[in-house]
Amino acid sequence: MMRTPADCRIGFLWSPLLETFDFGRKHPIRVGRFKMIYDFVEKQGFLNLPNVQVINPELLPEDLLRTIHAQDYITEVQRISETGVGDIDIDTPGFKDIYFNSRIVSGASVTGTKAVLSGSIDHFISPTGGFHHAKYEWGGGFCIFNDVAACIYELKHQSIERVLIADFDVHHGNGTQKYFYSDSGVMQISFHEDPEWMYPHDGNIEDIGEGTGLGYNINMHFPMDSGDAVYKYAFDELVPPLIDHYKPQFIIFIPGFDAHYLDRLAHLKLTTDMIRYVTSEIHSASHTYSNGKMGVVTGGGYHPDSLLWGIGTVMSELAGVPYEPPPQKPPFEDNQETWEEVKSNVARVKQLVFSALGI
Ligand SMILES: [Zn+2]
Ligand SMILES: [Zn+2]
Repeated sequence: MMRTPADCRIGFLWSPLLETFDFGRKHPIRVGRFKMIYDFVEKQGFLNLPNVQVINPELLPEDLLRTIHAQDYITEVQRISETGVGDIDIDTPGFKDIYFNSRIVSGASVTGTKAVLSGSIDHFISPTGGFHHAKYEWGGGFCIFNDVAACIYELKHQSIERVLIADFDVHHGNGTQKYFYSDSGVMQISFHEDPEWMYPHDGNIEDIGEGTGLGYNINMHFPMDSGDAVYKYAFDELVPPLIDHYKPQFIIFIPGFDAHYLDRLAHLKLTTDMIRYVTSEIHSASHTYSNGKMGVVTGGGYHPDSLLWGIGTVMSELAGVPYEPPPQKPPFEDNQETWEEVKSNVARVKQLVFSALGI
C-alpha cells in the first residue's frame, strides 16, 4: 500500500518551560521566540491534526549530559545559573537558571528521539533544538548543551548503528562534527555558507573525517548570495548518493531556516521552495532507509517571517497537509560567478568524499 505523509505520526515537543531562557532583548534569540513558533503552529491548525501530538519535553538526563560535556563546563554553567553572573561566550550570555533551561531545551530533542524509538511516533519536531555549535569542552554560538550529540548517544545506547545528521543550517555544525569526526556510525552532511567569512569559520570541504570516520563528514559550502538554483544543484549531486550509500537507521534533520534571503545573520538567498524541496527529500529518505525514523531540530532562523514560513513548510511536508507561505522573491538570481564556485565546490566534495567511501 502506498504511504502518504498523512499516515506519518508526528510529535511536536512543547512546554511553556522551554521559554525560560533569557539571552536579553537585543539577542537574535529573543524571549518569546519559542512561544511565537508554538502560537503559529497552533493557529495554522497543525496541532489539531489527528496524526500530530504534542509531547511534553523531559530534562536532559544527567548521564547523557556528562557524556556530551566536560564536568568543568557543566560546573561553570551551574555556577552561572545560580548567580546569573558570567557568560558562556561573547555571543552567548549567561542568565539565572540557565542550567535548567539548557537541560529542558536540549532534553526536548532527546525526548523526541526516545518517542520515535519507542514506536509511538514516526517523526519528532523539536522547535528549540539544534545546538550544533556546542562542543564537549565548552559552548558558544547561542548553544549551551549539544542536543544533537545527546540524541546520537541515546541512539547508540539503543543499538542504532548508523545515524545521519542532515544539517542545512547556514552555519557549519562545528560542535557536532568534532564529537563524531572519527566515527563511521555517524554521517554528518553540513551545507553552510563559506567559512571564510561566516561563523564559526570552520567546515572546510577538506575536513572529511579521520580514521574509520574518513569520508563520513561532509562539508559543502556556498558563496555569499547563493540561491535556490545552485543549492538544488549541490543537493541533487551530493545528498542522494551519500544517503543511498550510507542507508541511515535514523536521521536528524536541521532544515536551514537561517539560509533564507530575509535572514540577516548570514548571506544565502534561499526561499521556502528550497526548504520544502530539501525537507521532502530527507523525509522520503527516512521512509526508504530508516523506517521513517527521523527527528527535526529547528536550528537557526532569525527573521520572524521566514522562520515561521519555514516551520509551516516543514510541518506541512511531514504531516501531509497544505500550507503555502506568501510568494517570495530574493533580491537577485544566481549569477555565473556563483555557479562556477558552487560547481567547483561540489566537484571537490565528490572527489574527496566519494572516493573515500567508494561511491
Ligand atoms: Zn513520514
Ligand atoms: Zn545557524
